[in-house]
Amino acid sequence: MILENYSLKQCNTFGMDVNAKHFAVFKSKRELGDLIRVAKDSHWEILILGGGSNVLFTQDFNGIVLQNKLQGIEVVKKENEWVWVKAAAGENWHQFVLYSIENNFAGIENLSLIPGCVGASPMQNIGAYGVEVKDVFEELEAIEIATGETKIFKGSDCNFGYRESVFKQELKNKFVITSVTLKLKNLNVTEHYHFKTTYGDIQTQLAEQQANELSLRAVSNAVIAIRQSKLPDPKDLGNAGSFFKNPVIEQVLFDKIKEQFPLIPSYPATENFVKVPAGWLIEQCGWKGKRVGNTGSHARQALVLVNYGNAKGSEVWQCAKDIQQSVLEKFGISISPEVNVY
Ligand code: FAD
Ligand code: NAP
Repeated sequence: MILENYSLKQCNTFGMDVNAKHFAVFKSKRELGDLIRVAKDSHWEILILGGGSNVLFTQDFNGIVLQNKLQGIEVVKKENEWVWVKAAAGENWHQFVLYSIENNFAGIENLSLIPGCVGASPMQNIGAYGVEVKDVFEELEAIEIATGETKIFKGSDCNFGYRESVFKQELKNKFVITSVTLKLKNLNVTEHYHFKTTYGDIQTQLAEQQANELSLRAVSNAVIAIRQSKLPDPKDLGNAGSFFKNPVIEQVLFDKIKEQFPLIPSYPATENFVKVPAGWLIEQCGWKGKRVGNTGSHARQALVLVNYGNAKGSEVWQCAKDIQQSVLEKFGISISPEVNVY
């Protein structure tokens, strides 16, 4: 069923109250195919939405929003210590992580509690606490909007980068991802697994939990506890997580900036490049916890922009641009949005 002038307020975690000219939900690939045909015949622009946790709507959407509700998780192959699990794109990401933990499949426990759907996970190569989806990615299935054909993308086709993929760049809005297959370690047949606990506060949190033995659940619980203590819950305060990506800059430029700002933190990136935490840069510019009208940078996490209630997307976007400008003026570093702005 296609709905007209549908409010997207409940469909995006920023809580932006904009309308989609047309709106429909799809629960099967057949329904999706039919909706794509209608949209094409009617010359409507298509926007695919999962959980709406990485979008900022700044205006009404004049085309059709298709909300993905494809469901189903299945083990498609087991071999030696590996298991391949295929999840439909509309599955909730965190529920998928919990499924993996329950089944003793390792690899995505550090990605616990990331909002949104499985289908969006390769879009920006979701990452947290030292793990990215590309680390366990096997392949995805997607439907090309122009032709209606199903295509398989292997990791090498996706051009994964830091919060990036081909689907955020040249193939943006060209494919609908319908399922994602991950290759996970099957801890039912092997004990050899390297837990990633060196990142951030995971070890401190594990100690607080008195987790004597490392397990998938213990690591997941630690990540959940840290996230809950630092990040605003979109149910209470509209947000889309980190608004900006951490800039990756040349080592030589970084060394120059460090002469003026000796405390500037950094992490190694690719050869001759370093990653600078954008949250620190924003904080140094005085934005952390600063409210501007109905929006602003969150007090506990400067990278997160929030909606205090009635913010318009344009207001949040203006605040984001002001923050970018401050960082550029103070440090000469350009920070770019991670969130998809419409
Ligand atoms: P949506 O917001 O619905 O869509 C995002 C983009 O992907 C849009 O451009 C949309 O058109 C496109 N898209 C969605 N589904 C499909 C599909 N099936 N086919 C083609 N295109 C599609 N991200 C991280 O990487 N790491 C984190 O730790 C993290 N923490 C967060 C914490 C909070 C509190 C919040 C609110 C967000 C966080 N995010 C994080 C961002 C976000 O949760 C992820 O990017 C998530 O993968 C988005 O999923 P979604 O289903 O909500 O995507
Ligand atoms: P944090 O631990 O306070 O660290 C700040 C930043 O420094 C992070 O963004 C992280 O980069 C980087 N960093 C910290 N320790 C690092 C290490 N050992 N090696 C490499 N980089 C390191 O970050 P946080 O805000 O609480 O977030 C924790 C994790 O959750 C991070 O991985 C973050 O990306 C993720 N997260 C993402 C979103 C989102 O919307 N994208 C929202 C909340 C949290 P990285 O971002 O590259 O990891």
